[in-house]
This record gives sequence, C-alpha cells and structure tokens, in this order.
Amino acid sequence: MDGFQIIKELEEEKRIDQSRLDVLLQTGNREVVEYLYQRARAVREKWYGRDVYARGLIEFTNHCRNNCFYCGIRRDNTVVERYRLSGQQILECCERGYALGYRTFVLQGGEDVFYTREKLADIISSIHTRYPDCAITLSFGEWKREDYQCWFDAGARRYLLRHETASREHYSQLHPQEMSLRHRMECLQQLKEIGYQVGAGFMVGSPGQTREYLLKDLLFLREFSPHMVGIGPFLSQKDTPFAQEKNGTLEVTLRLLAILRLLLPKTLLPATTALGTVAPDGRELGLQAGANVVMPNLSPVAVRSKYTLYDNKICTGEEAAECRKCLEQRVELAGYRIVTHRGDSLVEIE
Ligand code: SAH
Repeated sequence: MDGFQIIKELEEEKRIDQSRLDVLLQTGNREVVEYLYQRARAVREKWYGRDVYARGLIEFTNHCRNNCFYCGIRRDNTVVERYRLSGQQILECCERGYALGYRTFVLQGGEDVFYTREKLADIISSIHTRYPDCAITLSFGEWKREDYQCWFDAGARRYLLRHETASREHYSQLHPQEMSLRHRMECLQQLKEIGYQVGAGFMVGSPGQTREYLLKDLLFLREFSPHMVGIGPFLSQKDTPFAQEKNGTLEVTLRLLAILRLLLPKTLLPATTALGTVAPDGRELGLQAGANVVMPNLSPVAVRSKYTLYDNKICTGEEAAECRKCLEQRVELAGYRIVTHRGDSLVEIE
C-alpha cells in the first residue's frame, strides 16, 4: 500500500484500519514520513492555528500507593525522598503561575491517601474561587466515581489519566497484579460520564511494547476520542524494576504524534517533558509533528528533583519564571506562539 495514499485517506477520515496504520508505523521511506509530518502540521494549523496552550504543572505529591514497574515514585522505591505540598503551597504555585500567564493549572501526583476527598475538594474550590477564569486539571490516578464527582463539583473540569496500554497482556507486564486495565478503563469512562474533558495516552517504547500493541492503542484512542492524548517516550528510572530497560525514542514518538493528529484532528496533544528529556529539541520537534500543548513545571524548585518518574528529567533546577521564558523562546523558534487563555479542547463533550 502506498504511504502517501494512506496519509491522504487518513486525513480525509476515509479509511482507517489496522493494516493502514501499520504501514505508517513501519515505513522507512523518509519522504512518506516527511509528508506525514507535513499533513499533521497542516491539520493542527487548520484547527488550532499556530497557538500553543501552556498548562502550569503542579506536582503536589510524590507519595504513591501503587507500584507500577516503570515509575520512579512507585511505593517500593525507598531511595526517593517523599514530599507533599500543602494547600497553601499549591495556591502559591497558582499565584506565581497566574502572574506568568497560565490559565490552566494541572494538579499531578501519585495516588496519595493523605489527601482525602474533602481535602482535595477544598484545595480545588479555593483555586476555583480565586481564579474563576482558569481551568483546573487533575491527574492523580484511579479513584471512586464519587471522588471524581466531588472534585468536579468543586470546580475541576479536566482529568488526565493515561490508559498506559490498551492491551491486557501488556498492561500486566507494566503493572503489579493488583492493578488492572479494566479498572483504569472504568475510571476513564466514569470521568467522561461526569463531564470532565478527559486525557488518555501511553508511553512510547515501554518494555514489552510491540507494534501490535501500539496499533491497539491507536484504535482505542480513535474510538474513545479523548479531549487530550498524552504520549511521551518511556525513560528508565534507576530505582525501579525497569532500571535496565531501553528508553523509547524520539523518532517513534514523533511519528505517533503525527499519526494521532491525523486520527484525532481536534485533540490536544502535548509535547511532553519526557520528549524534551530524550532529545534537547524534542518538544520543538513535537510541536512540528502536530503537538499543540506544553506543560511547564510550576512546582517549587525545592521539590522538583524529587518528582522523578524517570531519570535525567529536564527543568528541575529552574524557577517557574525562567522555565516560562525558556519555553516561550523555544516555541517561537519552532514557529509557534504560547497564548494566554484556558485553551479548551475543540473535541465536543458528548
Ligand atoms: N499517578 C498518576 C499521574 C502521575 S504519572 C497516574 O497514575 O495517572 C503521569 C504519567 O507519567 C504516567 O501516566 C506515565 O505514563 C508517565 N510515566 C511514569 N513513569 C514514566 C517513565 N519511567 N518514563 C516515562 N513516562 C513515565
């Protein structure tokens, strides 16, 4: 099958099936790959112009009850120094972030039972009251429907929960037995039903990932049609069972970003920190392959180096203001511009 033809049909939303996507994943033809990037850029510009949405990321806790094999803040990591931010500290991050132009705050963390449903609801509603023009995004894993509902009622409107892999076998290679793909998927479904704008996604090049699994991820995402899709390379972390595993690559991540842009034209696609870690210009290249979101760190510098999902994470030493400046320059050099608004997804809520 002709790669150029497949890209055209994908863009026209004509024929999308596993074998066609597989050709795009596999092709070694540079011209086809270039054409893929070019069309992904065109589609991104059709819907989002040259705008890049910036989200201020607040990594508020690295305590976690889970033991995911890939993750540096897993329960059994005894080396990592644990921390938690107080509600006051979180609000200070928002204050700094607001002044820098952020209109979305992302609260990310491990699954930390210290923050009860009510504590979190309090924090969320204080942010919502102080910054009514800002979107509040949550990203701290799997909880009960009532919890998700309570946080929605407190003012959160978005939730990022990567599905990690759409294949049950692969899921069990990445997680201990007590975790299940079924529960993860149930959470995603509940979040959608409650009315959150939902983000799913996966790591590229995670241990055991095959092309077949990647195709499953793509078809799942196409079907689920999330408002956002977060993907970034898997990067090993020295104190995890996957310490010796190979990292995901820049090239495969860029190609998947471009394919996702064509599969889900209106979705939000972040150029992730992991992508910026695997290559110095990774995020810029991500933007040029169809990504339209960046998520710079707003956490206090004192805790940054403790949120080590993977080794060599970038931007752990800079203040939020420096981070913002550096990123603005990078985005501009890539031919885009960071805008100051909430940056809602164009994917309709069903
Ligand atoms: N605990 C929350 C969110 C924090 S982790 C949750 O479970 O959703 C956010 C994302 O970082 C994860 O979904 C995972 O895809 C990614 N991640 C974790 N460890 C990683 C690693 N070693 N390399 C690359 N990405 C990683």
